[in-house]
Amino acid sequence: MSFAVSPEMRALLDRVEEKMESVVYPLEDLARASFERALPALLEARTKLREEGLFAPHMPKELGGMGLSFLEHARMSEILGRSPIGHFVFNCAAPDAGNMELLLKHGSEAQKARFLAPLVRGEIRSCFSMTEPERAGSNPTWLETRAEREGDEYVITGRKWFTTAGHLADFAIVMAVTDPDAPPHRRASMILVPCDAPGFTHVRRIPIMGDEGYGWASHSEILYDHVRVPVENRIGAEGAGFLLAQERLGPGRIHHCMRWLGIGERCLDLLCKRAVARELSPGRTLAEEQTIRHWIAESRAELDAARLYVYATADKIDREDAASARVEISSIKFYVAGVLQRVMDRAIQVHGALGITDDTPLAWFYRHERGARIYDGPDEVHKDTVAKHVLRPYLR
Ligand SMILES: Cc1cc2nc3c(=O)[nH]c(=O)nc-3n(C[C@H](O)[C@H](O)[C@H](O)COP(=O)(O)OP(=O)(O)OC[C@H]3O[C@@H](n4cnc5c(N)ncnc54)[C@H](O)[C@@H]3O)c2cc1C
Repeated sequence: MSFAVSPEMRALLDRVEEKMESVVYPLEDLARASFERALPALLEARTKLREEGLFAPHMPKELGGMGLSFLEHARMSEILGRSPIGHFVFNCAAPDAGNMELLLKHGSEAQKARFLAPLVRGEIRSCFSMTEPERAGSNPTWLETRAEREGDEYVITGRKWFTTAGHLADFAIVMAVTDPDAPPHRRASMILVPCDAPGFTHVRRIPIMGDEGYGWASHSEILYDHVRVPVENRIGAEGAGFLLAQERLGPGRIHHCMRWLGIGERCLDLLCKRAVARELSPGRTLAEEQTIRHWIAESRAELDAARLYVYATADKIDREDAASARVEISSIKFYVAGVLQRVMDRAIQVHGALGITDDTPLAWFYRHERGARIYDGPDEVHKDTVAKHVLRPYLR
């Protein structure tokens, strides 16, 4: 297993780092104050990066992406993760990134032309509507939303929430039950729904710890009230929704983990800067206190260990496939989310009251990433998957 970086990849990562400095970080304060007001500048930055060939890194070059392998994308993703807007500006943010991968692999030619191609070019935005307020999201085989077949159409009815980026999105991929009598894993299908279809109602942006966000940086409640779409809008076979969701979320979890490592590195950087600058009394800084030094050492070790684990998992996906790396994907999902939470919390603590203000990016990171231990499967569900695997030989 080698994680060495080729000279070409090193040059690319250096270029990406330079763009973070010159294009992304300067927009951060504006985006933190108001994503809505920052949007024109963010879109301009996206256009600039697309013209320079630094766009949609995980998509094939023929479609306008960068054609990176999974491990290469993982490395780039960590750099982008250092800013809350990095992935959006480089057009590889969730949920667009996962939706692109899904459509690339399972979309029909017509779906690719209408939905995937403009998404990769950054001309439209998408969302993924699976979780429902009335059903445990931890059990994705148990959904209320129905897609009933009427002639050549599906009629979709149901309520979804936590549809990330649903606000002002152009299309949604909706998980809906197409056959309630089928076995649980074969009941639902994924269906493409244009957000201007009659019956699609954007109910609200759900405030997250007091912040309702805007556009891509928000999570929506959406009502589907007898929304009609042609049967050709179904992705893959009828009843394949659950399997496709597993496939979509597997690589997506690596994307999240690498982004979290980027956030963790930024938090540790801010922690160290504050520790050496803040004096407890004249000439005596926080960095001299043993507790703070231990937090720094623990954060360094945890981030480095997490990175190697994520690389090993991405490498396995590149060499085999996401299904073979299922247990590793579950392990890194809860492990890296835990590391992130600890490092963010230490950084906030070291900043004292300043840490919970919006004068640094820490509060933004915390507000939006406390969910890391919940979305794409809560910790407990992933730990159960890993424990099942570890226990298997003992139970024979
Ligand atoms: C920031 C954010 C963004 C999201 N984006 C999207 C999106 O774009 N699209 C979408 O469809 N959904 C999205 N979600 C929803 C997310 O996928 C669900 O929140 C998640 O699957 C958990 O479902 P739930 O919230 O219904 O919690 P529940 O299923 O009600 O679970 C509640 C808690 O119970 C515990 N628990 C659950 N199962 C077990 C178990 N087997 N053993 C022990 N304890 C258990 C866990 O602690 C869990 O946190 C997002 C969520 C967040 C927070």
